[in-house]
Amino acid sequence: MILVDVHAHLDFPEFSNDVQDVIERSKAAGVAAIICQGVHTTSNANVLELATRYPLLKPAMGVYPLNLPNVRVNDEQDKDFDRKHAATIDETLQQIKQHAHKIVAIGEVGIDLHFSDDREHQVANFTRILQLANQLHKPVIIHSRKAEKLILDILEDAKFTNAVLHCFNGGKGLIKRAVDNGLALTVTSNANRLQHFQMLAKMVPLGQLLTETDAPYLSPVVGERNEPQNVSYAIDVIAQQKGLNNQEVARAIFMNYQKRFL
Ligand SMILES: [Zn+2]
Repeated sequence: MILVDVHAHLDFPEFSNDVQDVIERSKAAGVAAIICQGVHTTSNANVLELATRYPLLKPAMGVYPLNLPNVRVNDEQDKDFDRKHAATIDETLQQIKQHAHKIVAIGEVGIDLHFSDDREHQVANFTRILQLANQLHKPVIIHSRKAEKLILDILEDAKFTNAVLHCFNGGKGLIKRAVDNGLALTVTSNANRLQHFQMLAKMVPLGQLLTETDAPYLSPVVGERNEPQNVSYAIDVIAQQKGLNNQEVARAIFMNYQKRFL
C-alpha cells in the first residue's frame, strides 16, 4: 500500500536520537512521502537539512503562528510553542523566498486563538504569508485551532484555494464551506479514536482528502510518540467511512498528494 504523510515534525527533539530508524520504518510500511513542516526559521533550516539526507522527506517551510514575536500569547512559557527561536515575520518570509525552489509547500502556518487572543497580529502575519504563497505559487498547510471560521473568511477574501487545512476542528457547516471552496482537508492518524475526524472523512469527497500524522503528536495510541508509519490508521478510517477498500483509498490519497504538491 502506498502512503503519504502530509504533516509531520521529524526535526523535533523527540526524533533526535532515531530519525533514521523512524524513516526506515516509514519506508517499510509503504510511506512514499513525508512533508516535514518547519515551525520557525531554525526549524526551517533543520527541515531543509534533513530533506537533503533523506529523500523521503519533502520540506515545507513556515512559522507556527504563536512563534512570531509580534503576537501576544496568553502564557509565554507554554510548551506548545517556541519563542526562543523566534525570528520576525519579515525574516521568516525572506528565508522562505530564498529557499522557495527547494520546498513543496509553505507550512506550518495559520492562526491559533486557543493560546492567544491576538487576532490582529495573527491575521496580519497570515495575510502576508498568503501573499507570498501566491507570488511563489506554493500550496499552504494551515493550522486553525479555534480560528476555523476566521481562516475560511480570510482565504475567501483573498480568493486563495491552494490550501490544506491540517487537523481541522470546525463543525459540519465549516467543513462544507471548505469543500465548496476547493480546499483539501486531512484525516489524522488518531482518527481511529476521534469521532470528529471520522465524520470529516465521511463528509469530504475522496478527491479533497489527505492523510497526516502531525508526528510526534496525534498518536493512534494515547500517550505514545507518533510516527509517519501510523498514517495507515487514517487510511483505515477513510476506507471504513466511505465503504471502500484500503488499497483504493491509499492510491486516491497519493494521487491527491501528487496533484497538490508536485
Ligand atoms: Zn504540526
